[in-house]
Order: sequence, then structure tokens, then C-alpha cells
Amino acid sequence: MLELKNIEKKYTDFSLKDISFKIKQGEILSLIGPSGSGKSTIIKIITGIIKPDSGNLFIDRKDITGYPPEMRNFGYIPQTIGLFSHLNVMENIEFPLKFKKIGKKKRKEIVLSVLEDFGIKELLNRYPLNLSGGEKQKVALARAFVFNPYIILMDEPMNSIDYQIREKYLKFIKDISRKYGTPVIYVTHNFEEAMAISDRIIVMKEGKLIKQGNISDFIKNPDDVWIASFFRHKNIIFGYLKDREFRIDNSDLTIKTTLEGEGKTSIMIKGDEIILSKEKIFSSALNCFKGKIIDFTPDLYNREVVVDVRKVVFKVLITKESFEKLSLAGDSEVYLSFKANSVKKLKG
Ligand code: ADP
Ligand code: MG
Repeated sequence: MLELKNIEKKYTDFSLKDISFKIKQGEILSLIGPSGSGKSTIIKIITGIIKPDSGNLFIDRKDITGYPPEMRNFGYIPQTIGLFSHLNVMENIEFPLKFKKIGKKKRKEIVLSVLEDFGIKELLNRYPLNLSGGEKQKVALARAFVFNPYIILMDEPMNSIDYQIREKYLKFIKDISRKYGTPVIYVTHNFEEAMAISDRIIVMKEGKLIKQGNISDFIKNPDDVWIASFFRHKNIIFGYLKDREFRIDNSDLTIKTTLEGEGKTSIMIKGDEIILSKEKIFSSALNCFKGKIIDFTPDLYNREVVVDVRKVVFKVLITKESFEKLSLAGDSEVYLSFKANSVKKLKG
């Protein structure tokens, strides 16, 4: 278990105030907050690159505050990825093992097995310059995992990855950390990423830790305007997933999804991915339900329309113009449609 206790760091215009939290073995913890809130500073303090002004770091109750980075045995992927451009993929991944003075034969064996696990064997002889953003991240992750670190620290890894493959890469990180049993601190400014990957979330604002908990703690008690505004237009629903169908708890409603796996889980559908219509529409959307408007909240540009579908409440976000064009009112009967792949799975 890694523990931060009362960590403080002061710069001219910024200070990190009284940061305390723990991460358990095998856990994925997201550190989330707007840009400039101090996320990277915390990560660098954990790695040992930056010294805190006060406070302590512990591993299994042993004080490591004074340890230099190389003695901490942590895998770190900086925001800038940080691959060595003059080394090829094989040499990049081999580097930490060389540093640890592991013999050549053993090194090769370990690197090959990691390349296999990461599905990047064909990249062996390539140089960072000739890798895509996603490939670079995988190589950096492989280099962080290769020496069996105590923990992996990832600073905003999605920044360098194409939007279309982010979800796939997120799942990849989750699967790899489970396979190796290594805890991960995942830094992001994106709540959806955090909800998809983490067991627990810590929110930071202006150098302070403002809330920590699991996803349901955040849904039930956002506690903060920034957090609440994120959840406002999300439909978060609890139920059971089987054969890509999601049966909603305490309801006879079933949602079609593209999600794999079976078991109790929760899902999310963004309010602006639901189409609201007065007549039943025939489209490619696999989910179409009849419901009744029970409320709507005016916004400057948008309307959040609250619809009851057989006792399940959906929040749909439409523009003010659409709302007026459809001449919607309380109690109106409406149809909701959304695609199976608009349904995202949340952790837990
Ligand atoms: P985040 O990763 O959440 O975007 P950072 O931890 O990188 O935030 O930075 C937090 C604040 O600390 C920023 O306002 C940044 O300008 C400031 N900061 C970071 N490093 C230094 C430094 N070495 N000297 C002075 N100010 C710094
Ligand atoms: Mg940062």
C-alpha cells in the first residue's frame, strides 16, 4: 500500500495543500481535476522527481520520503511519454532492466514476454519517431511494467491517443494492470475516462483534494458544482448485463448494448446522444422506447427534458430550438431512441 500523508508543496503562484490518500494493492485510482490543479505535481512527488516541502510518503508503512526515484521501483509515464528517441522499441523497453543490472539473456526473455503480453512484438525494431500515439503509449506502458514495479503512474495518457481508439486503449490499460496485479494511479481531466477505468476517484481543485470515493459516492453525493455539472446530463443506470442486453434493476426495461461480459454493473448514456421525437421513428438506433415527459429544466441554450419510461427516468438534452419546434410540454408522450453503442459501461 502506498500512502501520502499531509504532503505540501509551495510554488510562487501555486501550492499543494495537505494531500493525503492511500492506494491499495491491485487498485486503479484516478486523480482527476482541471488543468493546473496540481495533478502532475503530485505524481512527480510520488516518483521522487520533486521533493515535497513537508509531509511523508509510505510504502507498506515504511517511510520513503527521502528515497531517490531509482530506489522507489515505480513505473512512470509522463505527460510527454518520454521514450528515448535514439533507442528502438526493444532497447527502450530493455532500458530499466539494464539499469537494474539484469543479465542480457534474462533481459531479452523478459522483454519478449512483455512485448507478447502487450501485442506489440512487430514493433520491436522501430524507433519512436515511426510510432503512432497509441503505439508510443503502449511501448511506454510496457517499459513501465517490464521491471515489475510496485505501482504505475500515468499522467494524462489519452492526450497522445486518437479519439477513436481511446476506449480500446483504456480497456487495454485496465486488462494489463489486472493481469500483472499492479496498482495504477491514472491522471486525467476527463470524468468519463475516470469512471470507465477506476475503482476509486480522487478529485483535485486548486491544489486541494476535494473529494474521494467510488463512482456511486460521486453519483449520490457530487458535493461540488464542478462534479455535479458533470453528472447533470448523464443517465446512470444500474442493472444486469448478459448477451449484450442490459436489464435495468427494478424494471422490465431492457437496453440493447454492444458491451461484452456478464454480471451486475452500471451503464451511462449521455443526454445528448438520445433522440427525442413525437412519433416513433425507424432508424438504425436499436433502442426505442415510449415515455412521458415529467419535467424539463430551462438552460440558456439547451433544455434538459426528463422522461419517464416505465418507471425509468431518462434525461435528454436538446436545443431550445428543437424543444420549441416539437412543441413539447409536461405530460406529452414522446419516443426516445439511442444507439446500442451509446451505452457505456461504468466500473463496478
Ligand atoms: P496539472 O497537472 O493539474 O495541470 P500541475 O501540477 O502541472 O497541474 O501544475 C499546478 C500549478 O503549479 C500550475 O499553476 C503550474 O504553473 C505550477 N507549477 C508547476 N511546476 C512549477 C514550477 N516548477 N515552478 C513554479 N510553478 C509551477
Ligand atoms: Mg499535468
